[in-house]
Amino acid sequence: NLYNMLQEVRGNIRVFCRIRPLMNSKSISSIEHVGNDGSIMVCDPYKPQTTRKIFQFNQIFGPTTTQDEIYRETQSLIRSVMDGYNVCILAYGQTGSGKTHTMCGPSGGLSSNDLGINYMALNDLFTISTSREDVKYDIRVQMVEIYNEQVRDLLSEDTSSTKLDIRSSSNGLFNLPDAKMCPVQSPSDVMTLMLLGEKHRASGPTAMNNRSSRSHSILTVHVNGKDISGNVSCSCLHLVDLAGSERVDRSEATGDRLKEAQHINKSLSCLGDVITALAQKNSHIPYRNSKLTQLLQSSLG
Ligand code: ADP
Ligand code: MG
Repeated sequence: NLYNMLQEVRGNIRVFCRIRPLMNSKSISSIEHVGNDGSIMVCDPYKPQTTRKIFQFNQIFGPTTTQDEIYRETQSLIRSVMDGYNVCILAYGQTGSGKTHTMCGPSGGLSSNDLGINYMALNDLFTISTSREDVKYDIRVQMVEIYNEQVRDLLSEDTSSTKLDIRSSSNGLFNLPDAKMCPVQSPSDVMTLMLLGEKHRASGPTAMNNRSSRSHSILTVHVNGKDISGNVSCSCLHLVDLAGSERVDRSEATGDRLKEAQHINKSLSCLGDVITALAQKNSHIPYRNSKLTQLLQSSLG
């Protein structure tokens, strides 16, 4: 299980659990009720639950936790990008659990008072960038989605660039040379790009039938710093909204749905394999087995 594997890599990896408030929304097709402790329980009366699992987290946030409070917990990690560290934040969970809400916030642009981690992170990087007189920073972003093991640019107006190739560069890391790289200078630049990315995601192959939850979306922030004596640093921050982790019953799914489910199961299990190998300090880390792990190699390793 990914949660427990993440837990093994203590120190470098932190695992937080966020419990979202109870929803009345019809779009969430489970039966929800509130437990004595105020938490959400999802029950399927037709499937008796016979196993009981215990998970450990660095911290658990209850339903009343605000976006700001969540951000504050990740802030120091995110800020370390400005010191040359590579950082990755993954939102993992089943569809409807609040991944997109946490990472992107509710749609509504800058007027929303519930901005997500993506936006708050970039805003914070700009604050640091302007406060440090000794280092000059250059910040650029890329935004892609992975759907059925194909990488698609979410910032390019050119819809023909559906399949981006992942290349390995001279330093042995994988990258996406053909994905549009957009320089950003202000929080409003970032919001414009995020809205554009959201729009492209909503019009792409994952858009139908709430299928955006069937793709992984990755916002990569590249930070280049140069100090007064000419030393340069370059690092990246990956902010990832993973595809829904729910298991699709093979006997029920057919056609496209089955294909999607197989790709998601495969890439999430590859992510688990990579994290296990890192935790066990194996000499071989199987990044190559999925597009997701290839793209996240620099920040996971
Ligand atoms: P996911 O991306 O994991 O499929 P969403 O982020 O789309 O889930 O969340 C499902 C629904 O729950 C959305 O309507 C979202 O606005 C709402 N929601 C999720 N988390 C919260 C929260 N912490 N507070 C209020 N509403 C939330
Ligand atoms: Mg989502």
